[in-house]
Amino acid sequence: MRTIIAMIRFLIRAIWSLVWGLFWTLALSFALVVGVLFFSGKTGSGIDGVSRAAQTVVTQVDAYFHRTGPMLSQGSPSAQEGLATDGHTSTGARWDQATAKVYLDPAMDETFTLAYEEALESWNQTGAFTFQLVTSEEEADILLTEMDDSTVSAAGEAESQTNVLTHRFKRVIVRLNRYYLLNKQYNYSHQRIVNTAEHELGHAIGLDHNEEESVMQSAGSFYSIQARDIEAVRQLYKESE
Ligand SMILES: [Zn+2]
Repeated sequence: MRTIIAMIRFLIRAIWSLVWGLFWTLALSFALVVGVLFFSGKTGSGIDGVSRAAQTVVTQVDAYFHRTGPMLSQGSPSAQEGLATDGHTSTGARWDQATAKVYLDPAMDETFTLAYEEALESWNQTGAFTFQLVTSEEEADILLTEMDDSTVSAAGEAESQTNVLTHRFKRVIVRLNRYYLLNKQYNYSHQRIVNTAEHELGHAIGLDHNEEESVMQSAGSFYSIQARDIEAVRQLYKESE
């Protein structure tokens, strides 16, 4: 009996010192990194500099864990959404008719050109929306291009200008982020790049995120266009028919 109690005591003590040790290691490393940042002079002087240094460390650690989280290759600019294809927020807008003119940026990576072409073809085949390729940027409603941005944890984005009175899009710029999609480390397959392009084109049509088996799933690029997505586009453009 005595030996059992002694063993339990020993175990509790061991676990306690382990937890305590870990806490101190983390606290000291944090203080050390903040100190290094502060004394490098990049974060400013005084108490403001210290707090800015501390903030930088917290942001970096947070970003690190988001990037290496369960959905490694996804990303969202907003931390609360976790890792998603993008941090798209609902615009409530659409085009006047179920059609739009698109222009492919000739300067972008060929992988993206091919992915966009496949994605455009997939959407066109649904019959719910028609993308029409044009040869000059001026006549296009939608510009399809790329970006190289490590500061956002988004695989792509769809930036829209909307007429707030009519809730109609004026112009949309879709960007695929080569920092993630063309980075070997993130291991994006061709299909997932195409899915990402289909997802961003979905936003360019006027679709929002959902958490179903859908091309518009926010933690995405696992699905291509599904029946529910085609139905969502039909619903969105019902009045224009
Ligand atoms: Zn999205």
